[in-house]
Amino acid sequence: MTTAAELPAPISVLPAGLTFRMVEVLTHPSSFYPVHPGRYVVEGVGPWDAASPEVCTDLSNKGVWLSDGVNEVLVCPGCGLDCT
Ligand SMILES: [Zn+2]
Repeated sequence: MTTAAELPAPISVLPAGLTFRMVEVLTHPSSFYPVHPGRYVVEGVGPWDAASPEVCTDLSNKGVWLSDGVNEVLVCPGCGLDCT
């Protein structure tokens, strides 16, 4: 179990008002590849249908852009995983 303090820094810079759920994400059903270290679920919007990316049922591969006009992040609409 990786503790929050040991997790890699997030890859993306979030729009204002949003935060990352600092829990390691290992897999996402829509991807053949493991989730890249530093990608986390975005919180502050949602709620997301899936409790975590590992059980996400959105296989559309169509992300949703969240932006504050300065920073933007692309998230999975099913679970909120950062896939920018
Ligand atoms: Zn998802």
